[in-house]
Amino acid sequence: MPDPIQDMPVEEFRRTAHEIVDWIADYLQDIRQYPVLPDVEPGDLIDALPASGPERGEPMEIILKDFRTLVAPGITNWNHPRFLAWFANTGSAPGILGEMLAAALNVNGMLWKSSPAATELEQVTLGWLRQWLGLPEQFFGIIYDTASTSSLHALVAARELASPEARSQGTPQDLTLYVSEHAHNSIEKGALTIGIGQRNVRHVPADGEFRMQPEVLASMIEEDRRSGKRPFCVVATVGTTSIASIDPVPEIAGIAERYGLWLHVDAAYGGSAALLPEMRYVLAGCEHADSIVVNPHKWLLTPMDLSVFYTRRPEILRRAFALSAVYLDSADGPRALNYSEYGVQLGRRFRALKLWFVLRYFGREGLAAILRQHICLAENFAEMIRGDANFEIAAPVRFSLVCFRARRPDEFNRRLLERVNSSREVFLSGLVVNGRAVLRLAIGNIRTSREDIERVWTLLCQTARELDSEINQLDGTQPDISDSDRPDNRR
Ligand SMILES: *Cc1c(COP(=O)(O)O)cnc(C)c1O
Repeated sequence: MPDPIQDMPVEEFRRTAHEIVDWIADYLQDIRQYPVLPDVEPGDLIDALPASGPERGEPMEIILKDFRTLVAPGITNWNHPRFLAWFANTGSAPGILGEMLAAALNVNGMLWKSSPAATELEQVTLGWLRQWLGLPEQFFGIIYDTASTSSLHALVAARELASPEARSQGTPQDLTLYVSEHAHNSIEKGALTIGIGQRNVRHVPADGEFRMQPEVLASMIEEDRRSGKRPFCVVATVGTTSIASIDPVPEIAGIAERYGLWLHVDAAYGGSAALLPEMRYVLAGCEHADSIVVNPHKWLLTPMDLSVFYTRRPEILRRAFALSAVYLDSADGPRALNYSEYGVQLGRRFRALKLWFVLRYFGREGLAAILRQHICLAENFAEMIRGDANFEIAAPVRFSLVCFRARRPDEFNRRLLERVNSSREVFLSGLVVNGRAVLRLAIGNIRTSREDIERVWTLLCQTARELDSEINQLDGTQPDISDSDRPDNRR
């Protein structure tokens, strides 16, 4: 027998762990000195690392050196206060510490027995969050990795309720699903995954404020029923991904009830706002929903990944995944919850720990104050836009998201975005609203300050002026200015 290889000696672990925590602390402290976006080309890291793994183990110092010099420079710094793209988020310090401990414990929370505290902490933590969001007591909570997975489970439960025969026969071809034209594409992905053909996914048109139109939903359902389809589920969104619009959930809930549809609410981003008493209204009607998803990894300071799914019909969810009668009574008694019975995965990470740390460290008031600050900063930024004749707001400002554009052609707006981002000082995203190119600024980082937002505004104004003067110079002399406009050539 060769000598057994041991895990890292405890003293080495202690030393290295301290060193890593120091690195993390410095990283968080000095985050503004990092570029938001890395200066890399596709393939850079692949080319910098060996094509095969090491035959012999390597010392941690060398591994960490490569982390610092090769990996860290290729990171898009989501924890940067001027990361304002997609939905900006925060991996807060208490959340990071929760992740560290969860990794150390390495429990698999598939059954109550496989880790009682992991299971019960998930129940307790999701109970607190449910109360803070103002959702009814009957809602059962479970953590999945992402909203995409949460919504997939909503669709499986909806199918189980509408068509229990699907378990043995496969997904019937007449089940039809309704989403707003502005719904996140994870809903359609979920439909694809469970075999709801794309031709059975209805995109309900939205009104002038990007909200699903309930009357149109009702008439689409009627029409589908007349033609022999089986409407089974409607997904409403609270805080759409592109412009954070809010579907009229109370009206949609009435329609879902009238036609016997499962109502799932996708509140991945916007749901967290219900923590604020003055924003409770965003979840109006959700008390009638069959399920709802909220992502603490989006706007509740929890490191990736953690998505919370609530359903008032856990027994349907469980039935959908049950494979034997054994599940019916747990050997550990009625209070022992086996979370793996409520979803696709067997093994489960101890995600509740980091959420529990976050909820306790900040408290409801602390979290509410942070979200309020984000909403206020977004409002300040919107005021700057409104006060400048060169810019305009492109969609109603909701939550902490501002969609805006320069009052210039689309191409100008696209270049503005590209050039501002190429500074690596800030990161905004772009989208198309009503067929026009729009810029999107989303606030979700705990460190984002008024100064950061002012810096973004200054950069936008400067860059717009630069672009204007370049265009004026070139006007009439050179119709195609795209090459001279490369970010690298501008100095
Ligand atoms: C971000 C987002 C999603 C997807 O979230 P993941 O957790 O990345 O799957 C779904 N729906 C909405 C409304 C979102 O904003």
